[in-house]
Amino acid sequence: MIIAKTIKDAIRNKYAWPGGYPLYLVTNDGAALCTGCGKAEFRSIAHSTVNQIGDGWHVHGAEINWENADLHCAHCGDQIESAYGDDEHEHRPEDAGFTIS
Ligand SMILES: [Zn+2]
Repeated sequence: MIIAKTIKDAIRNKYAWPGGYPLYLVTNDGAALCTGCGKAEFRSIAHSTVNQIGDGWHVHGAEINWENADLHCAHCGDQIESAYGDDEHEHRPEDAGFTIS
């Protein structure tokens, strides 16, 4: 078993392509993780996901956050950007894929 390409792509790019919609990770217990934590904790995620360990790092998949402006990362607590929610900042699709910080 390997880490799904969709999960790796989400961590790597942060935004869905095509479309430029913001992605987040969903764990098998239903928690949301931001892609920043996905990148920082990739070793934990890879280990828990491949071995199906229920320690909070078992990532089930990557989802687009369409309009939930109140979605926060279960690990760092940061707001997860949404495509159409009432965010403070505007998301520009042309930024997709080049905003890893
Ligand atoms: Zn986070």
